Amino acid sequence: MKNKVVVLTGAGGVLCSSLAKAFAKKECKVAVLDLNREAADRVAEEIKAEGGVAIGVQANVLEEQSLDGAKAVVNQELGPCDILINGAGGNHPLGTTSEPYFRAEDLNNTVEGFKTFFDLDVDGIQFTFNLNFIGTLLPTQVFAKDMVGRDECNILNISSMNAFTPLTKIPAYSGAKAAVSNFTQWLAVHFSKIGIRVNALAPGFFLTDQNRTLLTETNGSLTSRGNTIIGQTPMGRFGEPGDLIGPTLWLCGNQASFVTGVVVPIDGGFSAFSGV
Ligand code: NAD
Repeated sequence: MKNKVVVLTGAGGVLCSSLAKAFAKKECKVAVLDLNREAADRVAEEIKAEGGVAIGVQANVLEEQSLDGAKAVVNQELGPCDILINGAGGNHPLGTTSEPYFRAEDLNNTVEGFKTFFDLDVDGIQFTFNLNFIGTLLPTQVFAKDMVGRDECNILNISSMNAFTPLTKIPAYSGAKAAVSNFTQWLAVHFSKIGIRVNALAPGFFLTDQNRTLLTETNGSLTSRGNTIIGQTPMGRFGEPGDLIGPTLWLCGNQASFVTGVVVPIDGGFSAFSGV
């Protein structure tokens, strides 16, 4: 791992900042990319304060020009990209239904903000598909060029366990992550002859800013959805960012040299459990 150049998108966020720090501890040179410049810079500064090598770079995973600019900075400051982690992603409230199940009377529900399947907004759905799928494809087009003709390069996408079985209420996010998992397999095959491995993690439920209000009340107790999740997670807890580190370093390192096209659930058994 030493001196590998690792580019992580969405690395100003909770999960990928933790991965960025883990790569830095392995003496990799880390490029912390995020739409939010302050968040990217903050994570890079934290890494440097601990003696690591890192740069913060503002980049929008949905804009090729922005990614080209980021790549130029990474190449100049750190060198060509060896490992790409496609971490930027998320859901949008306009692609989310208010209730898990549709009932006939919901058609007449006039409560402001109440959304059934029939109210799902194409813009919200498109936002979610773009951020998760196009936001994985475009950075790969830009940074994987550095990997062609070089050894030991690989890509790690961040899917979700909702790609295996969709979660209630979030059809767009579930479908978009299914596309990320499918693309992981497709690209693994496509790049197999030039030695670029492509894998994905499928995290289960990690308590982060994106889902905190869905899963916990203001007093810290679990919401009904939070309770359902813990009840369906055989290991009986939410994931911690640190739970992703071991599988990430394994998949991106030489010990996984014959592993490509896999989507590894990191979910405390959620996706293996039938509920009975
Ligand atoms: P987060 O919101 O903490 O981090 C996401 C980061 O992506 C943010 O810093 C945000 O600024 C950045 N971002 C958003 N749009 C961007 C864009 N257009 N270009 C560049 N950066 C952009 O979220 P997280 O929980 O750390 O999630 C990281 C990844 O893990 C996401 O792909 C998410 O879908 C996935 N995931 C999270 C969970 C969970 O429980 N938190 C579960 C499964 C999968």
